[in-house]
Amino acid sequence: MKLAIVGTGYVGLVSGACFAEFGYETVCIDKDETRIQSLKLGKCPFYEPGMDQLLYKHLNNTKLLSFSISLSESMKDADLVFITVGTPSRRLDDDADLSYVWSVANEIGKNIKKYCVIVTKSTVPVGTSKEIKKIISNVVSKDLFDVVSNPEFLREGSAIDDFMRPDRVVVGSDNARSEKIMKELYRPLYLKETPVFSTSIATAEIIKYASNSFLATKIGFINEVSDLCEAVGADVQDVSKAMGIDQRIGSKFLNAGPGYGGSCFPKDVKAFSSTAKKFNIDLSIINAVDKSNQNRIKKISNKIIKNIDNESLISFLGLSFKPNTDDIRESSSIKLAMLLNQKGYKINCFDPAAMENSKKEFINFNYFDSAYEACKNVDAIVIGTEWNEFRALNFYEISKIVNKKKIFDLRNIYDGAELERLGFEYYGTGK
Ligand code: NAD
Repeated sequence: MKLAIVGTGYVGLVSGACFAEFGYETVCIDKDETRIQSLKLGKCPFYEPGMDQLLYKHLNNTKLLSFSISLSESMKDADLVFITVGTPSRRLDDDADLSYVWSVANEIGKNIKKYCVIVTKSTVPVGTSKEIKKIISNVVSKDLFDVVSNPEFLREGSAIDDFMRPDRVVVGSDNARSEKIMKELYRPLYLKETPVFSTSIATAEIIKYASNSFLATKIGFINEVSDLCEAVGADVQDVSKAMGIDQRIGSKFLNAGPGYGGSCFPKDVKAFSSTAKKFNIDLSIINAVDKSNQNRIKKISNKIIKNIDNESLISFLGLSFKPNTDDIRESSSIKLAMLLNQKGYKINCFDPAAMENSKKEFINFNYFDSAYEACKNVDAIVIGTEWNEFRALNFYEISKIVNKKKIFDLRNIYDGAELERLGFEYYGTGK
């Protein structure tokens, strides 16, 4: 099978490289020429563990992977064409902005010359794949294509492993021919006993939003419980641990922190609720989760402000929305740093991977080459992202270079008692 993948972001590029690893000839297409030029040289446009090696292998050794800006050229031999473009929130409301998806669908329609399966891998509201089918069938016979929904569940930071060893694959289709092709595509995973769920197209589209919204709900829930713990002197980490051991609950996504961020949860929660509204369904739980998450940054900033002096210099350790990625979209750490900066506090910062992305957008912060340098002469330290390299910082050394010994551990990665022995005022989350 030959594959064409449209959009070389986190999902498109990881899917492309992993499909090449399965043994498929894969061409990845993007309209961003600079991105394609550097990909042709093997340079991954973002930080993702293992990507550089996988790109190198399939560009230079197997030669199964190639890059192009031309969809028409790339579609000539393709048996499957994947749509992996972004679906951000629209500016004026909570709906998903589907303009990139519609644009690709139109282009695909113009270039279909032989039968192929169009795969919607972008996260799209229920009904979108049906609309894609309509757009394409306006310009080409329905016999020449099928549309299927195949939502992606990979996580940035562990994307390759997630793609190669997923908990499940979801395939929504409306006929046996396309379903069979999709099953064949994922046969390498099927051999590893990965469950492949065949559903209707609408069901597949909802599975993705329901999954992300449920995970966001777990985070929102434990964050509110952490507020109560803080108020009564209980420890949310112990609460999470004891809850998580219960197999009906599970321990993942049950860590209190500064609220969820990233390029998926915030927009998907909003879009899920907005889609439901169009069908007169009120997803009241999801609405509350969104509201609670939006209030989170303000709550945390109030807690910090209450415990530091005016005009303090604050060091932020971690800028990416989570560890092992350079993605800063909707990063809670950056939102908090921005809010404090707007209130007049000066911000020093360091992140192991996201400095370049952050420098382009947030010019008011002072950037340093290491956590230690970012902490020199500061009045407070905020651990915003739980990178592994922040888990064993030498706080004895840090205690000698800071101006005031205060630490706000938003991710609860330190033992407060140990830091207090070094003279730090320690503020964990929910304890
Ligand atoms: P991204 O913004 O990182 O990348 C999108 C790419 O598509 C960009 O490089 C852009 O130039 C390209 N593009 C846009 N229009 C194009 C066109 N007409 N032709 C060719 N290329 C075009 O996006 P992403 O983070 O990879 O997310 C893609 C989709 O996958 C979204 O719907 C997202 O919700 C979903 N998703 C993302 C993740 C994740 O962890 N990032 C996980 C699962 C699902």
